[in-house]
Amino acid sequence: MKVLFALALLFVGSCSNLRHSERIDNLKNSISFEDETVVNTYINTITEEELKEHVEEVSSEKYEGRKTGEEGHNQICNYLREYYKSQNISAPETHPDYYQIVPESVLPEGIKDSQNVIAYIEGAEFPREYVYIAAHSDHEGIINGEIYNGADDNGSGTAAVLEMAEAFQEAVNNGYRPKRSVVFLHVTGEEIGLHGSRYYTENPIFPLEQTVTMLNIDMIGRVDDRHKTNENYIYLIGADRVSTELHYIAQEANKQFTQLELDYKYNEENDMNRYFYRSDQYNFALKGIPVIFFFNGEHEDYTKPTDTVDKINFPLLAKRTKLIFSIGWYLANSDQRLNPEII
Ligand SMILES: [Zn+2]
Repeated sequence: MKVLFALALLFVGSCSNLRHSERIDNLKNSISFEDETVVNTYINTITEEELKEHVEEVSSEKYEGRKTGEEGHNQICNYLREYYKSQNISAPETHPDYYQIVPESVLPEGIKDSQNVIAYIEGAEFPREYVYIAAHSDHEGIINGEIYNGADDNGSGTAAVLEMAEAFQEAVNNGYRPKRSVVFLHVTGEEIGLHGSRYYTENPIFPLEQTVTMLNIDMIGRVDDRHKTNENYIYLIGADRVSTELHYIAQEANKQFTQLELDYKYNEENDMNRYFYRSDQYNFALKGIPVIFFFNGEHEDYTKPTDTVDKINFPLLAKRTKLIFSIGWYLANSDQRLNPEII
């Protein structure tokens, strides 16, 4: 009796596995970049030199470590919005100064009012569907008299968002407006507990149910110990947690455009580091929005004053930014909106 029962289960199990693998194959086959030449044109506007300019600026001493609520962080937020203005990239209609104020009442005690910075390019065909490209703008400030410049954390992610915004806008200028709206989001208060992204998802400027994906970038300019001998990698975390399709879109984009090693070590559910829960994508995933967290892993200068711009690997930062751009491009331009389900 027991044996029969086990066999029956086995049979059912293998049947559904077959159907599942077929569904996955169909899904993979449905993902293709028909506009490869166009994507390559705008991928190639992402350059090491421009990324370097941005990281140098963001991590410069004058911003005093960009602590949430402090003058240095307010100044970097101003730098970000001035950049969007200079590129003719709009602010949301409801927030014409690009700022969403995150009031001190929702921040830890002693932290002053701060702000998320939000810019966006309106989609041509589905303007009410939104693809987010995000990075936190704050860092640790000054501790024991030492400035924590945070070149990797998160000057690298901030620079990547700015470069991708410029690339999308250049496409618009040449007649390639994305089908969906693309939102560039710089959240505050990450280092003190993911406050800016939590506030944003509780007070969204664009409807969350119309949010297709959130691509979060937090540290992509360095190499960790696991990859000292092969630096051509990036960790992807969370891509398959909410949407199966997103996981395969990332793989297809990488195959086509960047050929990095996509490392899923930290994506495992039981991973002790729990990175999935430790950066801003988590607050979006909590709302059922498909996310990917792009990350280089920890290194000897992580959360130290020695996280400086001279240690950033700019060719690698450019390559990783290109990967994220190609994924964002696909999500913004595919005929069908991303399927936000696990199959
Ligand atoms: Zn960070």
